[in-house]
Amino acid sequence: MMLKVKPPDGYPPEEGRYVRGNDYSPVAVCVILDTFDFAIPPELNELVMVGTDSGAALSGMLQTENIGIEKIICNIVANSNIRYIVLCGRESSGHLPGEALLALKQNGVDDTKRIIGSRALTPYLYNIPTELIDRFNQQIVSIINLLCKPGERDIKVPGLNPNVIEEAVRSCYQESPAIFMGYTLYDMGAYPEPAIVHKIVAKLNQTQQAVEPGKSKMSMGLVLHKLLPKTDCQKCDKKTCLAFAIDLAKGKCRLEDCPFLDQPEFAENRRALAKLLE
Ligand code: SF4
Repeated sequence: MMLKVKPPDGYPPEEGRYVRGNDYSPVAVCVILDTFDFAIPPELNELVMVGTDSGAALSGMLQTENIGIEKIICNIVANSNIRYIVLCGRESSGHLPGEALLALKQNGVDDTKRIIGSRALTPYLYNIPTELIDRFNQQIVSIINLLCKPGERDIKVPGLNPNVIEEAVRSCYQESPAIFMGYTLYDMGAYPEPAIVHKIVAKLNQTQQAVEPGKSKMSMGLVLHKLLPKTDCQKCDKKTCLAFAIDLAKGKCRLEDCPFLDQPEFAENRRALAKLLE
């Protein structure tokens, strides 16, 4: 008989932009949020709701390649019934959180807790123990990857299509194996080890700490630099992008001085830079 377990008190330990559904479901839905909080596209909200309506245990949004993934890990290892993640939405070109989640499942983390193989800016899981990361990777048997490319607008493509997300979720809780877009899915029951309820204490990752008030302009400059084009083209009259970033932090130049930041592919980075400079 298939093993299912009642999630412990304290599940789900981390708050966030997600909805709790059926605690005994084997699947969670992760929708990439590729915009800032104040402008959540309605089609992404709909995907989250479709997740729980279709029977997922948790369905929510992932925005960042560090703290966002840490929260997902905490909430999933606190419910041993969850064995699959349906990953959908559009990849965020700024944070690459979808790619980071896939790389985590495939490769794990190195000794510095950096997600191996991720191309994101700061894919570090500093705030949770390695044992939790290992447990997540063992408990989750498969991430069903429906992730769309950044900027995708066609809501008929699988990763933005509510009907496809619904089918993916339903496939995960079939008693007999179901084939869905090349994945063989079925409800295999709970992970055999007890759930772990772990709450993140340090809410800030190292990058965020670097921009806390009182930190040096140099630290701030290093954070800003990560979001610049990094071509060192000197069109801003600075010798390097790093010099530009440090002067930005000091208020000696403006975002408008880098012409590349007006281009569509840097729109999200520019908004992030503006937010950091507020
Ligand atoms: S113009 Fe932009 S890309 Fe070129 S060096 Fe300055 S900051 Fe870097």
